Amino acid sequence: MAAPEIKLTAQLTLDVADSRPPTKPEANAQAQVGPMPIPHEHKVHPTSPGGENATLTFIGTATTLFEWQGLRIMTDPNFLHAGDHVHLGPGVTAKRLTNPSVPLNQLPPIHLVLLSHYHEDHFDKLVEDRLRRDLPIITTPHAAHHLTAAQYKGEPFTALTALDTWEAADISAGDAKLRVTAMPGKHVAPGLTEMVNKALGAVPPTNGWMVELCGAGNTPYRIYISGDTLMVDKLRTIPRRFPHVDLMLVHLGGTTIPAPNIPLLMVTMDAEQGIQLVHLIKPDITIPIHYDDYDVFMSPLKDFQDLIKNAGLDQKVVYLNRGDQYLFKV
Ligand SMILES: [Zn+2]
Repeated sequence: MAAPEIKLTAQLTLDVADSRPPTKPEANAQAQVGPMPIPHEHKVHPTSPGGENATLTFIGTATTLFEWQGLRIMTDPNFLHAGDHVHLGPGVTAKRLTNPSVPLNQLPPIHLVLLSHYHEDHFDKLVEDRLRRDLPIITTPHAAHHLTAAQYKGEPFTALTALDTWEAADISAGDAKLRVTAMPGKHVAPGLTEMVNKALGAVPPTNGWMVELCGAGNTPYRIYISGDTLMVDKLRTIPRRFPHVDLMLVHLGGTTIPAPNIPLLMVTMDAEQGIQLVHLIKPDITIPIHYDDYDVFMSPLKDFQDLIKNAGLDQKVVYLNRGDQYLFKV
């Protein structure tokens, strides 16, 4: 199988001097818009630290904050608190068990949001209500359709870029140059369940992302974010196009629906699939996220940690608690 072609479909220029909060003015009455949240703990490359010029802060679920060259990118914003519920499809709800490491109204200015799919544990109702409408968002065509539709209090989002699998956006933001390419992902196993899901419209299409930060050298620093996907054959095309990945964020959790007591259908990778992905992508560093925030996450991080240990890959994985920060060198 040949490496997939990348189709450049969008070009964005972002203003890194934009210091407005990421939330709407009317939601900012009590906002304490500040600098980057103070990390609980700093982590660096386990075997070759030094020269760090970029950070990744883990906020919770799949919400992370990248900062490089004054540019701040937030992934899958989910700012609900423990005890709050999300609706994940017909008859499927989940309860949040954790708190985000920083509240939505205390975020620093954000210049871009990467949204893997339109599911409430990745873009919750609070976020949908409060984010300012002109915040640039790159997402799936499905999510872009929902967010631009004037359905939400008559206030559509206005700066959406929709990318289908293998479509890319080139981005310049001050001194920062980067490319975001939509990676394949499958939230529901192919076959009968997929057909049933299509009919029900329960689980939306999802993207992964390849974020290539173009630093001083010729080779970009590559960050692969899996999105909510199962370990499916489609993912095998990724290393054909990207044989080297510096950092992988893997969405684990083994999310199982419709409910914790009726575990019928697994829709995100569990520990076993997670390690298969590590073997497939062979990233220099892996950071697991999306592993314990909801009661439908059935695969504990400990299972993944055990498999990593047994595979002798301890030096290839960095574990972040919510609020921790990974510093890396582009
Ligand atoms: Zn999820």
